[in-house]
Amino acid sequence: MAKKVLVTGGLGYIGSHTVIELMNQGYEPLIIDNLSNSEVSVLDRIEKITGKRPEFQQIEMRDKEQLQEVFWSNNNQIVGVIHFAAVLLVGESVEQPLHYYFNNLTSTINLLECMNEFDVKPIVFSSSCTVYGNPDQLPVSENAPIKAAVSPYGNTKKVCEDILKDASVAHPIKVVSLRYFNPIGAHKSALLGEFQSGPPHHLVPFITETATGKRAKLNIFGDDWNTADGTCVRDYIHVSDVAEAHINAMEYAIKQDDNSFNVFNIGSGNGYSVLEMVKSFEKTTGKQVPYQIVARRPGDVEAVYADNTKAIKELNFKTKRGIDEMLKSAWDWEQALAKQ
Ligand code: UDP
Repeated sequence: MAKKVLVTGGLGYIGSHTVIELMNQGYEPLIIDNLSNSEVSVLDRIEKITGKRPEFQQIEMRDKEQLQEVFWSNNNQIVGVIHFAAVLLVGESVEQPLHYYFNNLTSTINLLECMNEFDVKPIVFSSSCTVYGNPDQLPVSENAPIKAAVSPYGNTKKVCEDILKDASVAHPIKVVSLRYFNPIGAHKSALLGEFQSGPPHHLVPFITETATGKRAKLNIFGDDWNTADGTCVRDYIHVSDVAEAHINAMEYAIKQDDNSFNVFNIGSGNGYSVLEMVKSFEKTTGKQVPYQIVARRPGDVEAVYADNTKAIKELNFKTKRGIDEMLKSAWDWEQALAKQ
């Protein structure tokens, strides 16, 4: 049986790790990416890790004809789609909302139209725990109310889920939406991780860059939150665990009936505060991370971590890598990048 899986945004951080897991499990990923936030050199890295070079096409998904061409030239070969491609910076989305809505919504709609035209049914979508906003109850389950997103980026995730849900009523597709918590870390080879262009946007790259001395201090955004040590709490999960969840999700989607829509939390189920992350990093790597407390960051939520029991039960999802392994792999990656 053909095992070709179309991976949109497959050269990005989570996409590229997922491509490796797909290859490890005998799938043939067909990567499409517009390279807006990724590099072709990621293909070399994937090849070094897996011994094989995945198929890649530089495609602008906002242009439906380009996407149709991909489906046309792979007619009857694609068993499913994993849709990562999106612009994803919270701050930038506030400055450029129209770009964010246009890009993320148009590419998702074009993809769904192509799937209908070419009779491809299973789709795994990259969603985010941002759809829960500041949850009323912790850990947060898939049944928690969807809150108004604090950023246009977050709202594109919510609206894309709505589009997928409505489309799944009208069309014979099989949707699995994965709500990621905070993916961190890098492939164990240190050949692949998250690339930063400019200052990091997320906590862990900030910690690793501070540990190398590239940044003088980590700014911790507020220590007056209503949490045990006053800093915000998140659910960090190893990117390779997130990647593996996609293979389970794809296989689950394939087995579902037409017109299905299922949502899963992909998190470790554990909450760590910013200060706990700094302390764990220092303990694991022996490196100091100088920090200072600064004002709260607008739009931050106080605490969020996953109830992941549904994914464990129905997707056979497992978190194999703990916080030390997450932080150690992030540090190994930072050092590998510094040597290049
Ligand atoms: N954070 C911080 N300093 C930084 C970056 C992030 O204190 O330089 C905090 C942020 O306020 C949040 C947590 O670290 O509480 C995780 O932030 P990140 O941007 O990594 O992920 P988010 O959960 O916001 O998507």
